[in-house]
Amino acid sequence: MASKRLATTATAALLSTLGTVGTVACSTSSGESVPSVSSVKPDTSTVSPLKPVASASDVVAGRGALPGAPGIGDADFPTDGNGGYDVGHYGLTLSYDPPSKHLSGVTRIEARATQDLSRFNLDLSGFTVSRITVDGKPAKFDRAGTELSVTPASAIPNAAAFNVEVAYAGEPKPVRGSSNLGTYGFIPTRDGAFVTCQPNGAKTWFPGNDHPSDKASYDFDVTVPAGLTALANGELVGTPKTAGGKTTFRWRESHPMASYLATMTLGKFEMLQGTTPGGLKNIAAVDPRFRSSLRKLYDVSGRVTDYWSTIFGPYPFSSTGGVVDDFPAGYALENQTKPMYGGFAPGDDIIAHELAHQWFGDSLSITRWKDLWLNEGFATYAEWLWSEHEGQATAEQLFRRQYAAAADDPIWSYAPGRARPDDLFNNSVYTRGGMALHALRQRIGDPAFFRLLKEWNSTHRYGNVTTPEFVAMAEKISGKKLGPLFDAWLFTPKKPTTW
Ligand SMILES: [Zn+2]
Repeated sequence: MASKRLATTATAALLSTLGTVGTVACSTSSGESVPSVSSVKPDTSTVSPLKPVASASDVVAGRGALPGAPGIGDADFPTDGNGGYDVGHYGLTLSYDPPSKHLSGVTRIEARATQDLSRFNLDLSGFTVSRITVDGKPAKFDRAGTELSVTPASAIPNAAAFNVEVAYAGEPKPVRGSSNLGTYGFIPTRDGAFVTCQPNGAKTWFPGNDHPSDKASYDFDVTVPAGLTALANGELVGTPKTAGGKTTFRWRESHPMASYLATMTLGKFEMLQGTTPGGLKNIAAVDPRFRSSLRKLYDVSGRVTDYWSTIFGPYPFSSTGGVVDDFPAGYALENQTKPMYGGFAPGDDIIAHELAHQWFGDSLSITRWKDLWLNEGFATYAEWLWSEHEGQATAEQLFRRQYAAAADDPIWSYAPGRARPDDLFNNSVYTRGGMALHALRQRIGDPAFFRLLKEWNSTHRYGNVTTPEFVAMAEKISGKKLGPLFDAWLFTPKKPTTW
């Protein structure tokens, strides 16, 4: 994600005078507890689900099977995602009517149990659930907050594949951040909806395992009033079909995708489709209000994608592009294959940022939100690399401008390697994260640094990553001990003095 203000001021040397960036941040859903940050040291903990709580009836019903945990194990977001299973594919069949704001749909989830499972949870916010089946048999379910608990007719053995169908309907309600995040999730607009879900807003439009550590492929079958266009991730399958005043768009994202990157943004759009100079499919779409920026969005997105492919390694997905909608979100989100720009025509720097995320964030996804600098620090540094590539300020100049921030600037008191759940999108995660990469580049030299960027991508393509894995690879490739450098730049709440 990038805020408009963050991206458009990065090359204007104004950022060092800003405190935290107010237009993006994050909070947990209401009702979730936010643990205090007790340590800024790196840790090597992996995600481990919350301990499930079994009742006597669970044990009897499943003959030893246990319920899946209500959270996937991200300590900062304890109820996000769920334990006990891993989703392989989502099939979303959805119909949305903008005038009435009514969404109805069936979500089909293909999953595999990771334990003997007597019941399991899905994440879903709002809606009336009318029916749930597991492997075609009716299942019991009940709800508490955003947890939808499903009890199949019989327990699911560990490692077994199973499928779940959930039929639901109602008026989608976006998450309205309680801190400084703003609004995210399924956001109704004048002519449709703007759907950007970082960090945990997928649950505002479909039930699932709403955490980036469980990635899956997706099919979208979206029906909207004729005359509107529905845009989802990946590629259009077949030709949209219109009948009875409604048009159905089928999209398929066949590469693994984190739930927050899924979209079904819809409304009136003007589109340009073709290929980048390097031959990759390129799809740009803008709300008619932004018609004059369509050509630039298409051209710059194409050039940036081709350039990043030479720096970061082969483009991970089947198309690139971007979407400008008229909802004034004030931020952009790197929705897989289709970055979304909320209510503004993006400059080159923000396009460079969002498309860098296709590698850092989308292909390589974080395992836990505290490692967010692995997305945002890299995407911010990509803005600097693009500036240098375009013959404007060099990465070194941009680093120096940021480093000039006074010792009491808030950027130094927030350790970016440990993103806080109550201030996830702090400017430090972006800018100081980017500076950490430049410090690393200075320390290990360009050949090792750029080899690292490519090897990081090729090794973890379509997977999940953590900061300790990045540090280990940087040390392996450079042959240098880098602990003190990363400690100073990522984990210490004061201005680093050496690199
Ligand atoms: Zn970003």
